[in-house]
Amino acid sequence: MKFSRLRLSGFKSFVEPTELVIERGLTGIVGPNGCGKSNLLEALRWVMGESSYKNMRASGMDDVIFSGTSNRPARNMAEVLVTMDNVERTAPPQFNDNETLEISRRIEREAGSAYRINGRDVRARDVQLLFADVSTGARSPALVRQGQIGEIINAKPQARRLILEEAAGITGLHTRRHEAELK
Ligand code: ATP
Ligand code: MG
Repeated sequence: MKFSRLRLSGFKSFVEPTELVIERGLTGIVGPNGCGKSNLLEALRWVMGESSYKNMRASGMDDVIFSGTSNRPARNMAEVLVTMDNVERTAPPQFNDNETLEISRRIEREAGSAYRINGRDVRARDVQLLFADVSTGARSPALVRQGQIGEIINAKPQARRLILEEAAGITGLHTRRHEAELK
């Protein structure tokens, strides 16, 4: 699967609906400090099910909602939608009939997040497992935050193992085993 489109609305500095087409090959995002480059990567991580607001440079999950400026009021809702191209049919079996997958996450102040896959309401878990199974989860080493290389080098063996497991695409299996053991 490949990312093919990212749409944001009310997310951090992207207050107006914004659409980014992600072409095949390498995409570079350039711009002055503070223009929102890191916010775009965070939007991608967020729609894949990131559950830690600290990983979003926020002090609460509602902080991802546009907080207003001197001449624009704050929003009460943020939404990010990512389109995945599945023409190569590499999605997990339950989704593999679809040529494209559209995953969205929406948050309203004090009401938490709601997720959808191709228009159907799903749990956060379903979205996290979908991306974990294709090794591109929100915590995947494929998404490198500023300062993260140093963290990996200094990580304790246990933490480094989690990084390798995510890269190997077996994080989803651990989650399912854990859920099965609880039942
Ligand atoms: P750099 O080149 O310094 O890394 P950048 O392009 O990565 O910069 P970001 O960190 O993505 O920039 O964007 C920071 C901007 O986003 C700041 O101006 C900050 O005020 C704004 N911002 C972050 N969260 C919100 C929010 N909830 N509402 C409004 N603006 C926000
Ligand atoms: Mg940045």
